[in-house]
Amino acid sequence: MLPSLEKLRKFFRLEHENGYNNTAIIGGLVKILDFWESEARAESVEEAVVQAVTQRLKGYEALTPSGRADSLKGLWKRLGETYPEATQKTQVQPRPQQRPRPSQEPRPQQPPPAPKAEGDEMPKWLEPETKSAPPQASPPVGGTGGGSKPAPRAPAPPQGRSETAPGGKTSATPAALGAQLTVLQGVGPRHAQTLGQLGMSTLGDMLYYFPRRYEDYSQLKPIKNLWVNEIVTVIGAVQSVSTRPIRGGKAQIVEVVITDGTGALRLSWFNQPWIANRMKAGDNVAVSGKLDQYLGRLVMNNPDVEPVEAEHLHTNRIVPIYPLTQRITQKWLRGLMNQVVTYWAPALVDHLPDSIRTSAGLLPLGRAIGQAHFPDSQDELKRARARLAFDEIFFLQMGVLGQKRDWQSATARRFETPDEWLGARVAGLPFTLTGAQTRAIDEIRRDLNAGRPMNRLLQGDVGSGKTVVAALAAAMINQSGAQAAIMAPTSILAEQHYRNFTSLLDGTNVRLLVGDTPESEKAEIREGLANGSIKVIVGTHALIEDPVTFSDLQLAVIDEQHRFGVEQRAALRNKGTTPHLLVMTATPIPRSLALTLYGDLDLSVMDEMPAGRQPIETFVLRPQERERAYSMIRSQIKDGRQAFIIYPLIEESEKMDNLKAATEEHEKLSKEVFPEYKLGLLHGRMKPNEKDQVMADFRDKKYDMLVSTTVVEVGVDVSNATVMLVEGANHFGLAQLHQLRGRVGRGAAQSYCLLVPDHEDAVENERLQAMAETNDGFILADRDLQQRGPGEFLGTRQAGFSTLKMASITDIPLIEKARNQAQALFEKDPNLELPEHKLLAEALGRFWGKSSGDVS
Ligand code: ADP
Ligand code: MG
Repeated sequence: MLPSLEKLRKFFRLEHENGYNNTAIIGGLVKILDFWESEARAESVEEAVVQAVTQRLKGYEALTPSGRADSLKGLWKRLGETYPEATQKTQVQPRPQQRPRPSQEPRPQQPPPAPKAEGDEMPKWLEPETKSAPPQASPPVGGTGGGSKPAPRAPAPPQGRSETAPGGKTSATPAALGAQLTVLQGVGPRHAQTLGQLGMSTLGDMLYYFPRRYEDYSQLKPIKNLWVNEIVTVIGAVQSVSTRPIRGGKAQIVEVVITDGTGALRLSWFNQPWIANRMKAGDNVAVSGKLDQYLGRLVMNNPDVEPVEAEHLHTNRIVPIYPLTQRITQKWLRGLMNQVVTYWAPALVDHLPDSIRTSAGLLPLGRAIGQAHFPDSQDELKRARARLAFDEIFFLQMGVLGQKRDWQSATARRFETPDEWLGARVAGLPFTLTGAQTRAIDEIRRDLNAGRPMNRLLQGDVGSGKTVVAALAAAMINQSGAQAAIMAPTSILAEQHYRNFTSLLDGTNVRLLVGDTPESEKAEIREGLANGSIKVIVGTHALIEDPVTFSDLQLAVIDEQHRFGVEQRAALRNKGTTPHLLVMTATPIPRSLALTLYGDLDLSVMDEMPAGRQPIETFVLRPQERERAYSMIRSQIKDGRQAFIIYPLIEESEKMDNLKAATEEHEKLSKEVFPEYKLGLLHGRMKPNEKDQVMADFRDKKYDMLVSTTVVEVGVDVSNATVMLVEGANHFGLAQLHQLRGRVGRGAAQSYCLLVPDHEDAVENERLQAMAETNDGFILADRDLQQRGPGEFLGTRQAGFSTLKMASITDIPLIEKARNQAQALFEKDPNLELPEHKLLAEALGRFWGKSSGDVS
């Protein structure tokens, strides 16, 4: 049976199961024509038949369900006149290579009764799936041609749940998309396992496995139009391949010449002799790289090269390039993808209500998925990605709004803070609060007396004074005899908080619990927390790892919250019953991100530094100017100040080398550069108590200088340190540099930050220049986000973003559009209970099912 006819049969069958409600394909059956006509013509289906199909389908929408049933049956009969074999009752074809069907393959289920046209027997296209030939979707691109390509042999779109949702949309598709990949022809258990490693275990996963990039063969440049310094992809036929020794035989160079009819281009690879074996004269290849000039001619040095499948040369298409793993090839995956996408994407039922889709100006889901894989043009690709990105942000927003509602519907104890009490507390502080601190404290005070759990993010740049705000919050809770817990990511920080809290909360029983706390003391602390005699506990992960119980935990504070995983934050919260929650971060979060990711949290922004702080002056120095940095450090130390010298932790695998570097530098600096001063050393391989000791000694001025890896990064407060030298500065991200720099400038004295990259070129490095330009963490965070994307920006621990494949968190208009739509919908139908939102509710469940439900 011709693939195009088989496809019709599938859609008709789906339509039958949907009760002829014209939903077998998005936009109605008439949409089949978008692809069907050309396919049918390509298969030389008789013109009269093509015309008949076109006519019927165009008029289909206007008919009543029973009229539609008749129309399709009539059409099928017409087909049978020309192609009797296609409409025969049984269509068993010899398929010797077919393996037995895997048992997990979903079986077609009983279709619901369709509106019965009188006196008619069951239409032939409703024959059970198992007897039919596989649908041979013909790929628009990338297929291998011929009959050997993997084709979805089952299940047809209609299998799976096929009840019609009351809202008119059927939920047939989502269930079918749960089918295992082994239902695809050409995919056995071994391939399924490989695809599983890539994150694809169902048909639905495949539709959402998007290309890493695209090769745009529609924009190819002829060789004669190339310019020096251009970065291009060129396709040509290999004319010659040669290898010759250079540098007296110590190295080899492979030279290949390709031509495309407009000119010839020379390619060369140094010391990669195997390249010569990958190409031979006559092969078609795509090469990408930068054009250089050599002796007046264009050359490409060390380009990427990929064999070109013949069909690309003729298709002029944009071709998807998928992320791969071993044992599968691009071509194979693309072919398989093409089958799945061609066949299933059009049958996808859009989960977005039409009203939202139209008002947001979005492509239908099926079209977007199809175009995201095999785009017709760059423009369509953009629209496809916009649609899919909208979904992600929209789902994220809906989830966050739901969490906020859940959280707010809980009740929590009220803590009333009298004015006089607070006034006296504030008056007793060693400094005057900033306006921002006062506002934050006020907001917290109101939250604590609102009867529902506080869920607040306190966001303030390094040095803005978050600790005192947290301490006052704890004091408000303690006032009524309840307990507060503060969790920090490192023992250095916990210890620093402990000291601060002890002095700020004079007379309160405050204790410190870290991993290194002696066991006997731990036991005593546990007892004090369980019987309520300890009112404030400051600690690290030890707070949640140890079997700690509280008698009455009412406030959980999490410092540097992005350093903790979602579960860890939840674990602390769960030590009480709906305690108030305050999370603090020094990572300035751009507005777009805060709205999306932290939409469930109330936000206090501390955008004001304590009075008397001077902006840190930052300089980028060339490596050979290091001596200037040293003399600056000397002059600061002569003034009684202290200095940090930071070395980068380049990569996990280089940890040991790096440690060696810091250790050796410490040696060298102590002996050769600063023999007159005392230098401390701090690195990640030290035991926590050793680190604490070094930090404490530095704080107590036993060292003039601290040579350190980035372990010093977080929150450490040594206000006498006024200069920081960062070596290998080009290895750090912006956010990290900003955090590091925040270790100085914490007192009233002018402070300096000196950035020295490890090679000259990096002096112009954008990040370093940005650091020199501004001290504003928000501006830097925005730039960082634009340069690196949210994944890296937030660190691997941040949940919620793993699900974003398409959305760029810097796309503020998109985010706001999705957010507005989500908010409007949430107001109308917060639980998505209306029938027209049924599919959306399902899709939302799937989205959140894949990631953690807690993004805060
Ligand atoms: P961060 O927000 O980075 O956690 P800290 O709470 O550690 O900042 O405060 C940084 C330093 O500023 C500390 O030494 C703290 O005592 C001091 N500080 C906090 N608030 C003020 C203020 N209003 N005026 C002067 N110094 C302050
Ligand atoms: Mg802090």
